[in-house]
Amino acid sequence: MKRMTTFMGIAVAFGLGSIPGESAWGQDRDFSKVEIKVTKVSGNIYMLEGEGGNIAASVGEDGIVIVDDQFAPLADKIQAALKNLKITDQPVRFVINTHYHGDHTGGNEPFANTGSTVIAQDNVRKRLESGGTAGNGGSLKMERKPAPKDALPVITFDHDVTVHLNGEDIRALHFPAGHTDGDAIIFFPKNNVVHMGDDFVRYGFPFIDVTSGGSVQGMIAAMEKVQTQVPADVKVIPGHGALSSLDDVRTYVKMLKETSAAVEKAIDEHKTLEQMKQQKVLAKFDQYGTGFIKTDDFLETIYHDLTNAPVAQPNKQHH
Ligand SMILES: [Zn+2]
Repeated sequence: MKRMTTFMGIAVAFGLGSIPGESAWGQDRDFSKVEIKVTKVSGNIYMLEGEGGNIAASVGEDGIVIVDDQFAPLADKIQAALKNLKITDQPVRFVINTHYHGDHTGGNEPFANTGSTVIAQDNVRKRLESGGTAGNGGSLKMERKPAPKDALPVITFDHDVTVHLNGEDIRALHFPAGHTDGDAIIFFPKNNVVHMGDDFVRYGFPFIDVTSGGSVQGMIAAMEKVQTQVPADVKVIPGHGALSSLDDVRTYVKMLKETSAAVEKAIDEHKTLEQMKQQKVLAKFDQYGTGFIKTDDFLETIYHDLTNAPVAQPNKQHH
C-alpha cells in the first residue's frame, strides 16, 4: 500500500497518468480551485505558480514569452494572470518547455491553439510524440500516452536556441541526461534570472527520470555548469518551489553529491539494494524524504543510475 501511495503521489504530482481511470496529463483532475500567483522576479520577468511546474514569463512591448505551461485546464487562468499585469495586450508568442513531463507541457495544446509557438529540445518532442515510460529505474514507473499533435513543439533544437524579444536574448540551453535527456535551462541575462526546470527543485529529493535518460551525475554536472555561467546574485526559478538563490543550488548539489557517494560506497562494499534500505545508508538525509520522493525512492534512483548500463541516448552528447 505504501508503494501505491507513493506511486500515486508522484503520478499525480507530475501529471503523468497511468493510474487506472486517470487519463494522461492530469485531465481528469479538478483544477477549478487553482489560483495563479504572480511574483515579480526582476525587471520584466515574472514567476507564475498554480499547479505543476513554475512558469517564468518575459512580459514586454514585443509580447510575452513563457517557460513551461503547467496543465491544459489552467491555460485560460494563466493567460488571464498575464493580461492582468496590464503591461501588454500582445499575446503569448512563444512557449519554451524545460522538459517533456506533463506538469510542464500540459498547456502546450491550448497555448498552440491560441497562436503561441512551442519550442523545446529535440528529445522533448520525441518523448511527447511517442509516449512511453517515466520512472526512477526501480519501482517507480509511470506510463504515458502519446501527446496530441497540437501539443508537440513546432520548433526544436539540439544544443541551444535564443529568442530575441523584449530587449533580451532569452537562451534555452540543453543539459543532457539530468532530470531527463531533454532538459533545457533558460537564461534571461539582461534581467539576471535563470529557470532551472526540474534539474533544481525545492520539494526534497528530486524525481530523476532515469527511464527517460536522466541521471544523478548529469543533474550534478548541469547544476555545476550553470553556476559558472551566471552572476553570483542571479535569481533562480526552480522547477518546483519558491524563488531561490545560487546558495540554495549549492546546498542542493552538495546533497546530491553526498547521497551519491554514500550509495557508491555501499555498492563498493557489495551491499544489495535491500541491505542499503535496511541499513538506511541515506538516514542522514531523511529531511529531504518528507515529500513525495521518499528516502528509499531516492536510494533506488541512485542505485539504478549507478549500477545499470547507460541507456542508449537518442543523440550524441555534445557538451
Ligand atoms: Zn519533471
